[in-house]
Amino acid sequence: MDKSWSEMNKEMQMLISKEATYREGIQKLLALRKSLFEQITQIVTTFPADAFDQMPFPGVKGYHSKTLAYSIWHIFRIEDIVAHEMIAEDRQVLFSQGFLETIHSPILTTGNELSGPEITAFSRQLNLQELYRYARKVMQSTDRILAHMDFAGLKRKFGDEMKAKLQRTGCVSEAESAAWLIPYWCAKDVLGLIRMPFSRHWIMHIEAMLRIKNRLCRNVWKGVDPIAYCGFSCNHCFLGAWCGSCRTAYNTCSFATISPDGKCPNAVCCQERGMDGCYECSLLETCEKGVYTPSNDGANAAKAQAMFIRKHGKKAYLKAHDRLHEKYDFAKTQEILGQDWQEGLRILEEG
Ligand code: SF4
Ligand code: SF4
Repeated sequence: MDKSWSEMNKEMQMLISKEATYREGIQKLLALRKSLFEQITQIVTTFPADAFDQMPFPGVKGYHSKTLAYSIWHIFRIEDIVAHEMIAEDRQVLFSQGFLETIHSPILTTGNELSGPEITAFSRQLNLQELYRYARKVMQSTDRILAHMDFAGLKRKFGDEMKAKLQRTGCVSEAESAAWLIPYWCAKDVLGLIRMPFSRHWIMHIEAMLRIKNRLCRNVWKGVDPIAYCGFSCNHCFLGAWCGSCRTAYNTCSFATISPDGKCPNAVCCQERGMDGCYECSLLETCEKGVYTPSNDGANAAKAQAMFIRKHGKKAYLKAHDRLHEKYDFAKTQEILGQDWQEGLRILEEG
C-alpha cells in the first residue's frame, strides 16, 4: 500500500474510534478521500478513452486484473449503495440523478459477478465522462454524510431487515461472487463501513488502477522514440514508471498533467511547427514555454539536454546520459544539470 495513504488511513482509523478525536478523524478521512480521488481525476483527464477498457493483467489474482472503467464503477457503486441504502436510508445517487441512463451501464450492480471478458465488454459500453461525474457526486454526497455524522451514530448495526432491503434493490447480484457482499456489509456497524467501503476499499482499487495505468504506459512505449519533445530522455526519466511518453496518447508527463487540456505545451508547439523536438527550433535558447518556464526547476536541465541533442545528435545524447548516470547518483537530471543550461550542457559534453 502507498506509504502516505497507508499512514493517513491508520491514523484516521485510530482517531475516529475515540470520541475525543472523532472529528479530527473524520477530517483526516475526508483529506484521504480527496487525495485518492485526485488520482482518479488525473487518470480520467489525461488518458485516452481506449485505456479504460483495457485489461493489462488478465486472469491474475488481485484488483489489478480489472479495467480502469470497471474499477471506478465498482468503487462508487459500492459506496453509493452503502451510503444511501444503509446509512442515510435515502435514494442512491445512481437513481436520484439519472446516472444509470447517462452512463449507459447495462447493469446496476457492483459488478462483482462479471468475468474478465464481461468486464471488458461492460467497460466499452460506459460513457466515461458521465461515469466520472457519477463518481464525483457519490464522493461529495458521502462526504456530506460523513461530515454530519456524530460519534454515537458509529455504533449503529444492521440486521435481517436491512439484508432483505438490500436484496430487493437488485444492486447486488445473486451470483456467488457477489452475494456475499450483503451479509458482509450487514455484519459491520457504521464504523466498520467507514473503515472499508469509504476508505480501505478506495485505496486498494485506486492502487490497482495505478498499476493498470503504469502497465498501459509501459506497453505503449514499445517502438517509440525515447527522447521527449523538450529534450528529456524517457529512458532515464524518474517519471518513466508512470508516464507513457509525450509522443503517445498516454502522455502523463508532469507538464501535460498540469496543463488544462492535458497536453504538454512543448509537445503541442513542436507538433504545430512540424518539428521532431525543441532541439530543432531556432527559438530554443530564449524559449520559456512549458518545461522551459523559468520557475520550473527542470527548465535549465531540459534546455541543456535539448542543446546537446542539437549539437551532437540523439545517439550521442543517450550515450552521454548513460555516462552521467554511471558517474553521478541522481533521480532528476536537474540535480546535476540544473544550475544554468550552459553549465548543464558543459557537464553533459564533459561526460
Ligand atoms: S515525463 Fe517526459 S521525459 Fe519523462 S517519460 Fe514522460 S515524456 Fe518522457
Ligand atoms: S518555441 Fe519553444 S516550445 Fe516551441 S518548438 Fe521552439 S523551443 Fe520548443
